Parts: sequence; structure tokens; C-alpha cells
Amino acid sequence: MHVVLVELVKDLLAKHKLCDHCLGRQFASLGTGIDNGFRGMILRSTVLLDAHGIIKDESDASQDGKITGARTLLTGQGGQLQPLATKLLAHLNLPLPAPDVLARAKARDTMAPWDWDGCELCGGVFSKQVQSKLVQLAREQSTGIEFKSLLVGSRFSTSVVEKEEEMRVECGLKWGEAIKSHFNRFVGSELSQALDKPVDFKNPDVVFIFAIENKDSAGVEIQINPLFIYGKYRKIARGIPQTHWPHRACGGAGCEECNYTGKQYMESVEEYISKPVLDATGGSGVRFHGAGREDIDARMLGEGRPFVIEVLCGKKRTVDYEALTAAINDFAKDKVEVSGLRPSTNEEMQDLKENAPDTTKKYKALCTLEHPIDDATLGMLKAKLEGTTLHQQTPTRVLHRRANKTRLKKVLAVSWERVENPLEIVFIIEAMGGTYIKELISSDEGRTQPSISGLAGQKIVCKELDVLEVNH
Ligand SMILES: [Zn+2]
Ligand SMILES: [Zn+2]
Repeated sequence: MHVVLVELVKDLLAKHKLCDHCLGRQFASLGTGIDNGFRGMILRSTVLLDAHGIIKDESDASQDGKITGARTLLTGQGGQLQPLATKLLAHLNLPLPAPDVLARAKARDTMAPWDWDGCELCGGVFSKQVQSKLVQLAREQSTGIEFKSLLVGSRFSTSVVEKEEEMRVECGLKWGEAIKSHFNRFVGSELSQALDKPVDFKNPDVVFIFAIENKDSAGVEIQINPLFIYGKYRKIARGIPQTHWPHRACGGAGCEECNYTGKQYMESVEEYISKPVLDATGGSGVRFHGAGREDIDARMLGEGRPFVIEVLCGKKRTVDYEALTAAINDFAKDKVEVSGLRPSTNEEMQDLKENAPDTTKKYKALCTLEHPIDDATLGMLKAKLEGTTLHQQTPTRVLHRRANKTRLKKVLAVSWERVENPLEIVFIIEAMGGTYIKELISSDEGRTQPSISGLAGQKIVCKELDVLEVNH
């Protein structure tokens, strides 16, 4: 059965002390395009007009009970502070509230929602006074943090949430929204205006999380979202892993063998790039995401390999990418070079990782031969391998850390360059991302089929490997 809205609000206000914001929130899904404070103001005014109407009908004796109810509502906690209510009370010769309360009501803008600190749900958290305190708190806490967009989150004490839930059940209210989402939207808009930064629901630079016990005890915690930087790296020295590896013997804890560094390798592409990045952004740490990776002993040449570096808790978000490029290239001199640094996103980082197997790569492999190889054999290798799908079982050299399985990888192009030593040759091989090139050459005791060694009928070993191109 549909209950007349004004009766519901009357019942609610007779039983509970609510400010306009908390009153309006109980009806949040009714009417659109207005905020809860304004919604509450309209509902309360409607009830006051209704009460006035009832009192005007005093001639009708059968209405006695109703009239008493209307008077109580006007003089009771729920109604008396609004300017409209005080005027009505004076007009009807009903008892007026204390002079200070009256003065406060008079001073109020009649068109602003009533933000009462006697509200039993929020205790006045939505009042102008508390709002400016919260804004001040957020401003202080965010000093020294650079951000272009924000979002507000909150935690309310469970007693507030439970009280509101009980009230809704008691009064049969079914249109309410959570105080948390109301607060987040309300404070988000206040803070956005005060700090002149837009609210961004998807990718905010920072999230202000308010912990609300009551209006006098509010804290704020600032969560700085990761900063993403895209670039390409070239690795011009061999023997450097892409990312930092914990020392195998001690698991990274540090031991005598690793000189208490906890590292398996003393340097990595990640570390060469991340130190200058941390200096430039004031971050607390990084996560390095490469578009695939090359072997430790392979160089990464050509245009370089795309990567996204994720900076945790970066306090400086306006980065001079040119200066950063110079700083990295100086710090990593003769080892690693970066280019094309620019801002990136979480989505681009995900893309980069997911699409890594779809890339094609071009390699240069300097190989040693058992005996010289003739042009006819090389032509046969090219004809047999180009367009062929390799069956590659996990190489023996990585079996200790990767599951044994067979991968299907396509070879796209094979060419060669002769070198001075007749027992050496350079192969230029283009293949799908993730192809094990050393095993394509050696066959890895038959674990890669077909292979250059197998087809050529001699043992050919890759001595030096360079990645020349990574293509998306
Ligand atoms: Zn309230
Ligand atoms: Zn160690």
C-alpha cells in the first residue's frame, strides 16, 4: 500500500532528530538532480505547511488529536529551528525556542538546507562549519603532494550505520542511500571546489579517505595512486637481467655469498631506470613491466623494448621527461639507454603485458659452427624455417624455474651474414614473441623441433644474442 509521503516524514520527524541532509538522504532515490540537503529542506517545509493547515482547522473539534500532533511537530526537536518554523510558531502563538536558537535560525539563509549539530545521525558533519574543517584538514595533509585530480572515500563508525539502518526499518523507509556515498559525493564536491582539482572516479591521482567518528573527531588519510611512465629501453651491455632477482641461495634475505645485498645480479635494467625515476617523482618504490624480456646475456638493440614503470606513492607528478631521460642515460651509461618517456596509464601497462606474446621480434645471433656451412645449406634452412611453427619444450636452462610444457612459436624470417671466421656465422631471425632463439639454433637436445642444428646436421651454438626490434 502506498503511504502518503508527508505522513511518513511527519512520523520520522516526530521520532528522530535529523538535519536536512540526513532527512533528505532517507529519500535519496526519489526525485533526481537535487542534493539530499535540498531534498530534506523541501520535505521538512512540506510537513510544516501541512501542520499549519491542520492547526488552521481548529474549529473542527474532531481534529483535536491531529492538532496536538501538528503543534508538537512544530515545537518539537524535528521542526523548530527552520526559519519557516520560527515564523509559524510566532504566528500561531506557540512557545518559541530559546533566544540563541532563534537568533541562529534568523541568521540562516532561508534557501540553504538546515545543517543541525543536534542531528542524531551525523551530528552536524554536513554543516558548513564541519565541512570547512574537513577541507582544511585535507589541505594540510596534502601539502607537498602534487596531484591533478582527486576522489573522496570515507569510513563511518558502525554505530552510525546501524542507527540509520534501525531507523529505516522502524519508519518503513526504503529509498535511502548509504551515509558513506552521500558523504563522499558531498565532500568530494566541496574539496574539489576548495582545492580547484576535479573529482575523477576512475583514475584519481589521490584519494582522501576520511575516518568519521563524530563531527569533532575526523581524520584523513591520503592514498596516492600509482604513477605510470612509458618508455623504451635499449640494453647495450650483456649480463644484465631486466628485473632485479633475489639471490637464489638466500631468497633475497642477504647472505655472505651475495655480500648481504640479497641480489643474484648486482645490476638490472629495472634498477638503472628506477633510481632516477624515484628521484624525480619522490616515489616509495616501483614495479617494472616490460613488453616481454630478453635473456640476461642478450643485448636489446634497435629502437628498444617498450616498458611501463609503475611508481608507488609518487609525490611529484609533473615530470620533466627530457631531464629524466638524461638522468637515466647518465646513471646507466654504457649499460642501459631509455627513450620516448611519457605519461602512461594502468590500462596501457595491462595492454603491454597481455599483448607481449603477440609481438614479433627480430634477433641477431652470432653462432659457432662445428665445420663451415655452405650457401646451399643456408638456403635450405631459410626455406624450411620461414613460416614454420616450432614445437618448443621448456628449455633445460630454465626448467628449474618454469613448468615443462610445449609452446608453439612461428618463425617469420631467416637470413644470415657471414663473418671473417669460417667457423662462425650471424643469423638474423624474426619470430613471434616468446620464441626461445638459442634453442631454435641448438635444438636443446631435440626439445625444439625443427631446429637450425637439426636441419644443418651439425652442432650450432648461439654465442651472442641481440634483440634488434620489438614490434607490436
Ligand atoms: Zn545529519
Ligand atoms: Zn644471498
